[in-house]
Amino acid sequence: MTSSGLPPEAGPDGARVVTMLRELAELTSDEAGAQRVAWTGIWQRARAFLREQLQGLPVTVRTDAAGNQWARLPGGGSGVVIIGSHLDSVPDGGWLDGAYGVMCAVEVLRCLAARGPLPCTLALVEWADEEGARFGHSLFGSSAVAGTLNVAEVRELADASGLQLGDVVAEHGVHLDRLDEARQELLGARAYLEAHIEQGPVLEREGLPISAVSGTVGVERHRVIFRGQTAHSGATPMDMRRDAFLAAAATALAVRESAVRHRGVGTVGAARLRPGIVTAVAGETVILVDQRHPDAGALEAMLREAQRASEEAATAEGCSVSWEPVFRTRPQPFADELVDVVREVCAELTGRERVLPSWALHDATPMAGAVPTAMLFTSSAKGISHAREEDTPEEHLRLGVEAFYRTVCRVIELD
Ligand SMILES: [Zn+2]
Repeated sequence: MTSSGLPPEAGPDGARVVTMLRELAELTSDEAGAQRVAWTGIWQRARAFLREQLQGLPVTVRTDAAGNQWARLPGGGSGVVIIGSHLDSVPDGGWLDGAYGVMCAVEVLRCLAARGPLPCTLALVEWADEEGARFGHSLFGSSAVAGTLNVAEVRELADASGLQLGDVVAEHGVHLDRLDEARQELLGARAYLEAHIEQGPVLEREGLPISAVSGTVGVERHRVIFRGQTAHSGATPMDMRRDAFLAAAATALAVRESAVRHRGVGTVGAARLRPGIVTAVAGETVILVDQRHPDAGALEAMLREAQRASEEAATAEGCSVSWEPVFRTRPQPFADELVDVVREVCAELTGRERVLPSWALHDATPMAGAVPTAMLFTSSAKGISHAREEDTPEEHLRLGVEAFYRTVCRVIELD
């Protein structure tokens, strides 16, 4: 450090990234956690904070047709390398999910702007509504840009208070009829790179601060409806019941058993009983099933096994069962040559090579279908995320900033 600040050739300042993240958390959290839910005032405050961080840099800042914020640092030659993540959070979320990747990108942009003309354009993107916390549809902005957003489907969505997605996003300058225009943002795109916390326990368990990511796993999400017969809890003998909840409960156990056998994950995260009172056998039960696996064949087997188990359970309880798809995405591998760059950089900094699949979806998932993509993970303390307790040791966050910077430099062929 000199009296005039960092010299132009200085690397990134990891401490500055941590400071920005703490300031953002201070600005957009309450005692229950981060409250940067997309399409809300607090989210807009977070986005304004980002614009403040970009002030003074030689970048043009604008918002695209899907509500994503971009900051472009023009360079020579052709092609664009895109770096970024999201600022929105789940309700009562953590301080690092998404925000870490955005602030890493700010720091890399700041360093590279100071190095003078770049061989290609570097674009920071802050994706709109990655979490889907308000309308239940994840990856809004990134899938619009990648061309995989189903507009007819999102048009139908409403939030818990009944407000339509189309009306709400229009208040933020996004018009569903013009979403397609967002695809122009990828013109000339050569690569997309994203830093993110792991949100799981693997790196911590292996004693690793950072790693490369091989891709994101496939996801099958279904609503499963069991129908039996509502009846009096007291007056109905046990051998005369058609208990829809018991069929659902047996299915939930089968979802777990199948996930364990295939080394995937399976979750029944929601259940609704009708009438849902203690004095009635449930005549109807609806559960939401989420199954994930890095291998498409194994994921398909997990789904088939859960469906078969639900039919057997329904028959045993005298019920019917039907499955409705809610969301589905295939395993999305990242670009080998970019994963190799991240892997090499991490090996330089940690002395160990490790490439993990991501069990969470990210904006990198739709992007990987459109542009060569890679991600860098930093560890998550106790593997906890989407919660106030979400954390990462500061030295891991700082190492991640250095690794992300070196990755970007190599991808834009600075050294
Ligand atoms: Zn995230």
